[in-house]
Amino acid sequence: MSSSDQINPAFSYQRLAGAALGGMCGDALGMPVEGWQSQEISRRYGRLDSMQAGRLPAGSYTDDSQMMIAILKTLADQGRLDGPHLSQEFLRTFEPRRGYGTRIFGVMQRLAAGAAWDGAGTDSLGNGGAMRVGVLGAYYADDLEACQRAAYDQCRITHQHPQGLAGAVAQSLAVGMACRMGASGEIPAPHDFLSEIAGRVEAMDAHTAARLKAMPSLPRGDEAAARQALTQAYACDVTAAEAVPPALGAFLAAENAEQAIVLAVSLGGDTDTIGAMAGALAGAYWGLDALPAAWLNGLENGDQGRDYVLSLCPRAISVKSG
Ligand SMILES: [Mg+2]
Repeated sequence: MSSSDQINPAFSYQRLAGAALGGMCGDALGMPVEGWQSQEISRRYGRLDSMQAGRLPAGSYTDDSQMMIAILKTLADQGRLDGPHLSQEFLRTFEPRRGYGTRIFGVMQRLAAGAAWDGAGTDSLGNGGAMRVGVLGAYYADDLEACQRAAYDQCRITHQHPQGLAGAVAQSLAVGMACRMGASGEIPAPHDFLSEIAGRVEAMDAHTAARLKAMPSLPRGDEAAARQALTQAYACDVTAAEAVPPALGAFLAAENAEQAIVLAVSLGGDTDTIGAMAGALAGAYWGLDALPAAWLNGLENGDQGRDYVLSLCPRAISVKSG
């Protein structure tokens, strides 16, 4: 069996684990420079392509991956996106030191006080629903309607503004489509890829659709040109509408997984989250084995670390209930 056989079809261990670990790699690579401007990152690190220490040790993941892992745990336990189960997983695994957004603390307090799974969220248009959703895109790659519904429901637990919801759905669909294209060996054409996603989220939020369609042209493989185009077009901040499109852009501009993630982090701003989203896309498209070994080896691997995440993937696949 060739390696390309092993990563087919669209729904597979390689793609689900690729989305999970690719997201963790992007999160950990972006962690030390969260909130920095693009120029500050290149001045300090040059091409930031190795795990560095920041407010957490090198290779540590942040809130983005902690919540992604909660989604994966729900899939492994339930075989589907189960809102009540996931809300309790978010609460059970919550570690403030991972760097959560301020409004999440209120969500957790309401869940702890017994609020319904869909009754604790805020009217946030942040990227928190999108940052963690990659594994769902890979899990439902064979059914984009289910992919969209599951992405929407997991987002509602914390983020209920239409822009937060549309961003989460867009990222999930993008990962699902990346799985399909990776399986068929198709290179995504940026305009077609973004038009398809914009068309699907337009009815939820027209602004998000417009921001996806505002993608500048991206010279494939030219990191410096893509970085300049993406930072001019998007704020790359904590809002879903300004963070999801550049993550998709970094993936679409890249020729391999490493480049997608390095480019995403180099944009500055919400680097861990944009890195996590581009990483999930890259891992889904190119597969787990295409992620740099040095990054995988450098990821934190304690209690809820790399090997634990890898162990959840076959469990989630074996119990999938359609
Ligand atoms: Mg984070």
